[in-house]
Amino acid sequence: MDLPSHYAPGELVSVLTAQPIDRFLDYRAPANGCAQGAFVQVPLGPRQVLGVVWGPGQGNYDLSKIRPVTRVLDVAPMRDEMREFLIRAGDYTLTPMSAMLRLATRAPGLSDPPSMQKVYRLGDKDMDRMTDARRRVLAVLEEYGGLSFTLKELSDMAGVSSSVVKGMVAAGAVREEQAPRDLPYPRMDTDRRGKPLTDSQAAAAARLAEGMREGTYGTTLLRGVTGSGKTEVYLEAVAACLAQGRQALVLLPEIALSEQFLIRVEQRFGAKPVEWHSGVTMTERRRAWKMVGQGEAQLVIGARSALFLPFRDLGLIVVDEEHDTSYKQEDGALYSARDMSVLRASIAGARVVLASATPSLESWANAEAGKYERLDLDARFGTAVLPTMKAIDLRAERMEPGRWISPTLASAVQTRIAKGEQSLLFLNRRGYAPVTVCRACGQNIGCDHCDAWMVEHRFQKRLMCHQCGETKPIPEACPSCGVEGKLAPIGPGVERLGEEVAAVFPEARMAVLSSDLFGSARALKEAIAEIAEGDIDIIIGTQLVAKGHNFPKLTLVGVIDADLGLQGADLRAAERTFQLMRQVAGRAGRADIPGEALLQTHQPDHPVIRAILDGDEEAFWQAEAEARRAAGMPPYGRLAAVILSATDPQTAFRAGQDLARNAMPLTKVSAQVFGPAAAPIARVRGRHRVRMLVKAGKGVALQAAMAQWVGQLRPDKDLRVSVDIDPQSFF
Ligand code: ADP
Ligand code: ZN
Repeated sequence: MDLPSHYAPGELVSVLTAQPIDRFLDYRAPANGCAQGAFVQVPLGPRQVLGVVWGPGQGNYDLSKIRPVTRVLDVAPMRDEMREFLIRAGDYTLTPMSAMLRLATRAPGLSDPPSMQKVYRLGDKDMDRMTDARRRVLAVLEEYGGLSFTLKELSDMAGVSSSVVKGMVAAGAVREEQAPRDLPYPRMDTDRRGKPLTDSQAAAAARLAEGMREGTYGTTLLRGVTGSGKTEVYLEAVAACLAQGRQALVLLPEIALSEQFLIRVEQRFGAKPVEWHSGVTMTERRRAWKMVGQGEAQLVIGARSALFLPFRDLGLIVVDEEHDTSYKQEDGALYSARDMSVLRASIAGARVVLASATPSLESWANAEAGKYERLDLDARFGTAVLPTMKAIDLRAERMEPGRWISPTLASAVQTRIAKGEQSLLFLNRRGYAPVTVCRACGQNIGCDHCDAWMVEHRFQKRLMCHQCGETKPIPEACPSCGVEGKLAPIGPGVERLGEEVAAVFPEARMAVLSSDLFGSARALKEAIAEIAEGDIDIIIGTQLVAKGHNFPKLTLVGVIDADLGLQGADLRAAERTFQLMRQVAGRAGRADIPGEALLQTHQPDHPVIRAILDGDEEAFWQAEAEARRAAGMPPYGRLAAVILSATDPQTAFRAGQDLARNAMPLTKVSAQVFGPAAAPIARVRGRHRVRMLVKAGKGVALQAAMAQWVGQLRPDKDLRVSVDIDPQSFF
């Protein structure tokens, strides 16, 4: 498609706004004209809204009423590559373009006029009294020559308090000046060397760097057991990318946990990378967005939405822990950041590295089919060996009521405490108890808005619904029968396990790691740092701890309920359990002491539990692939889901029945339609939910058929329709 590069003043332009209206709007180019792709502010009714110049005006509107663009924003115009990515990602996920633009402009204040802030650079006077701290400040400023820093950056980089810098300003050794708020980021030093690599690491790194030099699209699955040095290896690919002057993006699943990671990157490249995630301040987000667009941010470490940053020359995307389910956005635009990374890279001529110890079956199959290259790191770095894995057969243990740590597991923990080593008890359940029952009437306490039980969070002294987040105080009397003092917790959550640990190991230092127990990402980071230092004997954690941490003193992992993930009819239950158990077990024995993983289970002979214990991943994948192929399930077939919700259950059901009756667009392409059926969680936030599932062959152009099918629905104020291509969850 050939678009003009510039529009003359007064010329008609078509503008895409981030407002939920499904069409492009015509405006007149402003006084100095505007570039194709320019970000602009335009009037819409009484408001001013953000938009992007999408192409020539369509002219199908009363010409005399067309208003001019208010202002062209002082940011880099959207590149053709980004435009194509948004179009194709929108087509794939059936997301309207306005919503795609919202994803691509998630930085507040983009339309604010540029503002100023205080920055610090090298002054011209010498310091009379030199101290170590002052010397470090000067060293930083000298290393980066002419660059200036904010007070926080400078004091962080020099490891001094801000008063040290202020003192140096007073003495004239550091100069304070006003500069535009959105400063470029410090340059990454690609001449620095990484750690010396082992032979297999070096071979993998060389292959990735070679791919980088090819300068064309390509995806590599980097599979390596936990602790094998995948991070070291892909940082070499990052180095190769930056050395070419291109930008790199590393996606991580749980960004709150990346403190150790940031430090590693800083050690490797001598400067902090740009962070992009929900914990980043508004001003930093705007700065990051702008600088990424200007090519003044070389390396971004981010959560999945970083994929929509306006990179000027993206050369590499690393998706770390690529199997992680949090890469699938489950709210609003339903996209898989892993799959969209591959799309974006293929448009940008960039490389993708998908790193994991336990790849998704999708990526494994793509590697088998030759679509992805595959590199393997089979040994842990150094003397570290993989933990031995054993089952604890709960049927043969003497378990006291209200206790979840078996005698066998307890004695293994005791041994570690005696040796000064750490244990991790893993239970993937937040809160105190998953269910609260009334012993008088037998009713469980449910959420008022959802079909879900309220989960007791004793730490916060409240009951919480894990669907909608609603909380209420723990009542004295049963809401059903009114009898007082009979409510009792059933089953364990991590908080309750914490109580048990305190009772069984009164002398041990313990930490409970669960996302809801920390007020902020920072508090969580601090807790993790403390654990890594070894100040804790027993860690109790949810899946938050399963991901990518290095706890050198951790030698025992005890899985409280290995059967938990196997319940339920999820297509990926086996795959998920396999991945999670292997990841958690991988936390043990990362330094020089071998680790052990003990899985408490009621079904030690279940094929998935057996596969976990045997550690024969290739065999597990082969078997799982075979089962999916036989059933025509992903990745060997395609799925799409439609979720209909309404405050009136009839509305949702009727819409579902309408769709079921008018399935021609789908049957035409031999797709099967299942449902409507009440969703497993039939009510969320007061809305009744009905699901439909569509199953099609691998080669079917499913999106077009789905759009046509769902497009037949009659609009209804109460009805919300959401289409989920390649669904990952089925609740
Ligand atoms: P993975 O990402 O595969 O889990 P990491 O890259 O985190 O593995 O490596 C595990 C640990 O081993 C880290 O502490 C890392 O610094 C260390 N390590 C890995 N490779 C090397 C190496 N070649 N030299 C020194 N340390 C290494
Ligand atoms: Zn609820």
